Amino acid sequence: MACRGCALKTDLAAPVLIVGTGAAGYGLLRALRRLDAQRPVALVTRDDGAAYSRMQLPSGMAEGREARDLVIASAEQMAHRLEAIVRAQTQVLHIDRARAVAITDRGELAYSRLVLATGSETVRPSGIRGKAADRILTVANLAEYRYFRHQLSGRGRVVLLGGSLIACEFADRLVRAGYTVALLEPGSRLLGHQLPALCAGRLTRLLTQGGVRVELESGIQRAELGAEGLELTLRSGAIRTADVVLALGGSQPRTGLARDAELDVRSGIVVDEANRCSDPHIFALGSCTELAGRGRAYAQDIDDACAALARTLMGGTSRAQWRQPLRRLELGGMLFALCAPPPVGGEWHEVATASGVTARFEDHRGDLRGFALLGEPAGRADELYRRLAR
Ligand SMILES: Cc1cc2nc3c(=O)[nH]c(=O)nc-3n(C[C@H](O)[C@H](O)[C@H](O)COP(=O)(O)OP(=O)(O)OC[C@H]3O[C@@H](n4cnc5c(N)ncnc54)[C@H](O)[C@@H]3O)c2cc1C
Repeated sequence: MACRGCALKTDLAAPVLIVGTGAAGYGLLRALRRLDAQRPVALVTRDDGAAYSRMQLPSGMAEGREARDLVIASAEQMAHRLEAIVRAQTQVLHIDRARAVAITDRGELAYSRLVLATGSETVRPSGIRGKAADRILTVANLAEYRYFRHQLSGRGRVVLLGGSLIACEFADRLVRAGYTVALLEPGSRLLGHQLPALCAGRLTRLLTQGGVRVELESGIQRAELGAEGLELTLRSGAIRTADVVLALGGSQPRTGLARDAELDVRSGIVVDEANRCSDPHIFALGSCTELAGRGRAYAQDIDDACAALARTLMGGTSRAQWRQPLRRLELGGMLFALCAPPPVGGEWHEVATASGVTARFEDHRGDLRGFALLGEPAGRADELYRRLAR
């Protein structure tokens, strides 16, 4: 088949090759199999290829579950059930677009279509000095989860760096499981610009009442190995000791392969509504991508994109729209629903009562563009989501 805009001919007998076996990689495989049982599909991943949900990691910690308990299916089981080839422990090093092959540390893999589902990586806090600075952990995949549990085994003091939603979730689950937890946020409120003041303040109070020590405008400047564990010097000069420090400040799309292959990359791999990259034979999915300047890190959005791309790969003309993510979780014993507003001008309007907080973000025309609901008002999340201006 001739390539639009270049002289490449791809081998149609070659499989659709998916790089990555996370929610996006396996999600696309499932969506493809719903449409066609025959089409050759191969997946390649640098990890062990086990299928699991990253959303289960915080609750898994609280429930004391081993990494193996979170596995839904092994790479072999996924390959067998969904009739695909899964090459685990294989890293893609380079994409040779002219020959339509992915070069891995175990040889070359030809593709008819290539799908990058390489995920995102945690941003580690910079500028922390000291001999124990490299002991700061991240928990963004199963291998890291396994290591985190191992490090915490028989110990109890955890410091979390960054006041992201995932950090709040980890703090809540860990404290409920009996750990001593401090959460250090460099800014003046949890979740930064995603939350207005009243709502952020109530969230801080809830976590604090639950036993989390929340410290705003705080962070670590030095980490050393002391007699009683990790000795942390905070920005204020105060000293804390901890057994484990976890960085949860945020993540960024993993774009190295795409960049090296000279595909269009900004903060994520740039795709159009058909999930196509700047090379017509290459597509991208999941948290490594950006569509119209917006990241796509949430399950809801990834599921839509998988279904749409499966139809495109089968010859259809399906388009995935960017959907504003709605996150729901329980924090400090209260329901919390967050639909963060897009980067448009406007302002938050908040009402706080004893039963919770309703925060609505309206643009300059008065249209609803996002919301945060804590406590009883969280029951209205679906209604507000339907009323969002798009
Ligand atoms: C703790 C935590 C809690 C979360 N909670 C929620 C939630 O409640 N709701 C929600 O919507 N989202 C949540 N998320 C976000 C969501 O889970 C992720 O955005 C989603 O899992 C991303 O899936 P992905 O397939 O894009 O990437 P990943 O799952 O990261 O998969 C990336 C894959 O690419 C492979 N890979 C990367 N580079 C290479 C290479 N060069 N060669 C071979 N293989 C490669 C990796 O091995 C891996 O298999 C959470 C995330 C975390 C970390």
